[in-house]
Amino acid sequence: MLKLEDLTKSFEATTVLDNISLDLESGETTVILGPSGSGKSTLLRCLNLLETPQSGTLFIEGDLVEFGGKLTDEQVRTIRKHSAMVFQSFNLFPHYTALQNVALAPVLNGKMNKKDANKLASDLLDKVGLGAKKDSYPDNLSGGQQQRVAIARALAVSPDYLLFDEPTSALDPELEAEVIGVLIDLAREKRSLVVVTHNMAFAQKVADRIVFLEGGHVLYNGRPEGFFSSTNERIRRFLNIFE
Ligand code: ATP
Ligand code: MG
Repeated sequence: MLKLEDLTKSFEATTVLDNISLDLESGETTVILGPSGSGKSTLLRCLNLLETPQSGTLFIEGDLVEFGGKLTDEQVRTIRKHSAMVFQSFNLFPHYTALQNVALAPVLNGKMNKKDANKLASDLLDKVGLGAKKDSYPDNLSGGQQQRVAIARALAVSPDYLLFDEPTSALDPELEAEVIGVLIDLAREKRSLVVVTHNMAFAQKVADRIVFLEGGHVLYNGRPEGFFSSTNERIRRFLNIFE
């Protein structure tokens, strides 16, 4: 369970998230939609404290943090262990192989020895369809393959929530389909996913919940059917772009 209450995030005088409250069930796929600048990335970044909100509370799988003052390192560590983020730009280490990229975090955070981490990384690369590319360096992988390594790397820390910020927007349609295929598999396994994407087919078919942001406010929060058949003028105008 992930719960936000009255979350506010500002950058200097600009309020980017204005008193947001959300409940996300474990095992569900939430898709966050909204126009550019509506606060989608900021919301995702607040969930793992890459950004610190000014006020509100975040509750995630039994841990609670109240915003307002400076957070302790311990609070940040506690919240962060619940999630892993996948970015638009892959962000793999170029001097490490696919396997080394995936095996790194469980060793660094003291959860596993190198042998166990390599076994886990190997299994996760099989899972994302990259069994044959374990020893390849990122430069020798396509964008879609690199992003699948990044997903395997996120899975390697066994997060409760996987956070995706436009994971396919740097990819050609064919490579996008490879990555969306992995996301669909994860959704079917009832992993808890929070996905910022402009892929409406994914949102419509796979999401359990749609959250539509505009100007830092939640304009819609509910089932995809209700969103895609909404008569709200702002939502219709947003959806028309994709038709
Ligand atoms: P996009 O679809 O273009 O990725 P988004 O919905 O993800 O947009 P955010 O990146 O969350 O939007 O940005 C929301 C607002 O906050 C924008 O007006 C942006 O300029 C502002 N903003 C984001 N990060 C910062 C920052 N570090 N400093 C100042 N302003 C910021
Ligand atoms: Mg963004």
